[in-house]
Amino acid sequence: MMIPYHLFKSLLFCFVIIALLAPTAGAQVLKVETAPSAAELPSLAGRKVLLVYGGWPGHKPDAFAERVGAWLNEQGAILSVSDSLDVYTDETFMASVDLVVQYWTMGTITKEQEAGLLKAVKNGTGIAGCHGGIGDSFRDNPEYQYMIGGQWVAHPGGEIDYQVKVVPTEDPVMKGIGDFDIHTEQYYMHVDPNVKVLATTTFNGAVDSWIDSAVIPVVWKKYYGKGRVFYLSIGHSPETFDVPEVWAMLTRGIRWASGSKYLPREEWMSPVYGAK
Ligand SMILES: [Zn+2]
Repeated sequence: MMIPYHLFKSLLFCFVIIALLAPTAGAQVLKVETAPSAAELPSLAGRKVLLVYGGWPGHKPDAFAERVGAWLNEQGAILSVSDSLDVYTDETFMASVDLVVQYWTMGTITKEQEAGLLKAVKNGTGIAGCHGGIGDSFRDNPEYQYMIGGQWVAHPGGEIDYQVKVVPTEDPVMKGIGDFDIHTEQYYMHVDPNVKVLATTTFNGAVDSWIDSAVIPVVWKKYYGKGRVFYLSIGHSPETFDVPEVWAMLTRGIRWASGSKYLPREEWMSPVYGAK
């Protein structure tokens, strides 16, 4: 078939334009559909973030710090990294921090260190983290646990297959994320009933028959004073962060928690046991 030259030129032009636009347009559509916008979740650019890591080496805190630290840098955060809890005693510095990301399992924290962290969060510094990194950090410290909103107590069967179920919500942290399966520790936790739960998991009775059908939160957000607190119970090993849903929830939760000093307080509290 012969095609007139001017038509050929037009067709070629159209083809080149489509080829150039297609991948970009596709990526943008995907991004718009799945990722929260800057208006929905705060940007970390220019925000002062403190990353604290340590505690039980089995959770590979170094690997967490490296991965999350690299991401925080990419986001344009002004990042400070510490492998010591003593940083919490620097009152002037802590007052300037927008967000603490901590990954510290089964440690001990001194009264002064704990007081420094709690004071900063009460005054508006956010705190975000996952797994034992904030959810099983300091077993002797109930006020710290009161701040986080939960404490790990068991993971029956160790690393097992289970499902994470997303709570029906408009919350941007969960935008575009559906229920998913994972193989890792299923955290059974004692949880403050006034946190805002974004995802849950249901236990079976394979190991502990009395918890068959128990529903336990996997993701929540809350306040402690003026500070935003974000928690995700997944994060036992570096591979868990390769699961796209896990990485999305963690990084979005970090973004959310960074905004306490700049954004209006979100209200969701309702008395769970309130008889009228
Ligand atoms: Zn673990």
